[in-house]
Amino acid sequence: MTQLKWGTPKALRELLCEVVSWKSMTLTEGEREFPSKVAAKLKGLTYFQENPEHLGLHDADLGRRFVTALYKHPSALGTVVLISHFDTVNTEEYGDLQEYAYQPEELTRLLHSRIDELPAEAREDLLSGEYLFGRGTMDMKMGLVMHMGLIEKASVEQWPINLLLLTVPDEEVNSSGMRAAVPKLLELKEKHQLTFKLFLNGEPVFTQEPGDRNYYVYSGSIGKIMPSALFYGKETHVGQPLSGITAPYIASFLTQRMEWNLSLQETVMGERTPLPVTLQQKDLRSEYSVQTPYRSAALYNVFLMQRNAEEIMNMFEKVATDAAKACNQAYHEICKEQTVTPVGDVRVLRYEDLEKHAVRKFGVEYVAGIKAAIQKREEWDDREKSFRIADALIIECQELAPAIVLLYAPPYYPAVNSSENELVKKCISYVKERGFEKFGLPVNQVHYFNGISDLSYVNYQDAGEGWTVFKENTPVWGTSYSIPFDEMTKLHAPVLNVGPLGKDAHKRTERLHIKNAFEEVPALVEGMVKMLAEKKVRC
Ligand SMILES: [Zn+2]
Repeated sequence: MTQLKWGTPKALRELLCEVVSWKSMTLTEGEREFPSKVAAKLKGLTYFQENPEHLGLHDADLGRRFVTALYKHPSALGTVVLISHFDTVNTEEYGDLQEYAYQPEELTRLLHSRIDELPAEAREDLLSGEYLFGRGTMDMKMGLVMHMGLIEKASVEQWPINLLLLTVPDEEVNSSGMRAAVPKLLELKEKHQLTFKLFLNGEPVFTQEPGDRNYYVYSGSIGKIMPSALFYGKETHVGQPLSGITAPYIASFLTQRMEWNLSLQETVMGERTPLPVTLQQKDLRSEYSVQTPYRSAALYNVFLMQRNAEEIMNMFEKVATDAAKACNQAYHEICKEQTVTPVGDVRVLRYEDLEKHAVRKFGVEYVAGIKAAIQKREEWDDREKSFRIADALIIECQELAPAIVLLYAPPYYPAVNSSENELVKKCISYVKERGFEKFGLPVNQVHYFNGISDLSYVNYQDAGEGWTVFKENTPVWGTSYSIPFDEMTKLHAPVLNVGPLGKDAHKRTERLHIKNAFEEVPALVEGMVKMLAEKKVRC
C-alpha cells in the first residue's frame, strides 16, 4: 500500500507550518503566489500525477487565482466540495515578532520569553503546550491542510466518493475569490458530471466565551449587508446657517436610529445576530472651508439570518423616512423661532430612483459616462466609489435635494442555513457521537457560523426580490462588484462547516489547538466523508 505523505498528526503539523510560511496576506504579492505553491504540493500526489487535468489554477481578480483539485471515483454517486480560503489578515500587531508570525514552531517557542506580555488565557494556553501560535494557523490554513490530507487519503484508499477541493483568495476582504469560483464550480460539475452533495467548509471553531471547552459544528453561515446613505444637504455660509442645511445634521438623525436598532436584529433557532452598528460616517469634502458641509456619507453594518436585501432595504427606508421627518420638524421649528423661511424638506429616495431620474434627464450614456469616470479612480475602493457615484448624480439633479439617498455598498454576504437538511443532520449526529466516543469531545451545533464565510455564495435560495433590489441599489454593480446570484442558485446542496478549534483569530495570539487540529477533527471529517460515501445518499 502506498505510504501517505500527510497521514499522521506529525505530518499534518509539518505541512501546516510549511503552508503558513507561504505568507499570503490579502492584497499582497504572497496572496498571488500562494496558489501555485499549493498546486505544486498537490501535484506531488500520485493521483494528480496520473490525472493532471483534475488539478486547476483559475483567475480571480487583480492577478489572484484559486485552486481546484478533483478526486473522482468511478462508482461515486456524489461530490463533496471542500472549501477553504488561503488569504490571511496582516501581521502589524506582532510588532518586533512580525517575522516569526509565519513560523509557528519558532513563534510558539519565542513567546515563552514574552509570556508577561500575553493576556491571561493565552499565557495559560502557551504554558499548557497544547497550542501552536501563528498567523493563519487557525484562520484558516489548517482547514486547507486538513482538506489536502483528506484528498490524499481518499485517493490512495480509493474511497467511493468524489472530493473537490477548492481554495480561494480574498475571503478576508471582498470574497472575490469565492465569487469567481462559483461559475467555475458549475463548469466542473458539467464537465465531470458531478452531483454536489455537500459544501463543506473548514473555517475554525470560535469559542463562544472565554474558557469555553466545547467544540462546534456549524450548519449555516451568518449574512452581512451594508445599507448606506449619501446625505445631500444645501450649502450656505456659516454666517447664515438657516439658509442651508448641513449634511452632518441630517446624518445625525439617521445614525441615531440605525445604530443598535433592535428591529434590525434577527433571532432564529435561539441564535441572535449582533446589533447594527455604524462602520463609517464622513464628510465627502476633505478640506476645511467656511462653506457649510452639504455632502456626507454613512455606512452601516447589518447581520442577517433569514432576511434578504429587499427586506433590509424596506426596513432601512422606513428608518430613514422617520429620520427625515424628525429632521424636517426640528429644522422647521428653529426656522419659525428665528423667523427664517426654510429652504425645503429633506426627502428620502433609493439609489435606483436617483439613477432613473438622472437617466430620464440626461440619457443612459451620460449617466454611464459619470459612472465610468469614477470607476477609473483606482485610489478609491468600492465603498468610496459607491458614494461618489451617488454624489455625482445628485449634483446634477439638485431638484431632488436636500435628500438622503439610500444605497448598498459592497460586500454582501447572503445568509445561508442547512439546519433542516437530512444529510446535514446525519453528519452532525455522526460528529457528535464519534467526537464524544472517540475523544471525549463535547460537540455542539451552531446554526449560523458567526465569523462570515464563503459559504454565503453557494446554495442561494431567495424566493423574493432580494437579488434585484440589491443589484439596482448598488452603484458599483456590474463594474467593480457583482455577485453571481444566478449561478449560486444552481449550486444547490446543503452547507456545513467543520473546522479545527482555535482562539484569537486576527489577533497576535492567534493559535490552534494541536490535538484537536491534527488528530480529532481530521479523524471526524474522514469518518463523516466515508459515511457519506457508504450511504451513497442521493441528492
Ligand atoms: Zn476565515
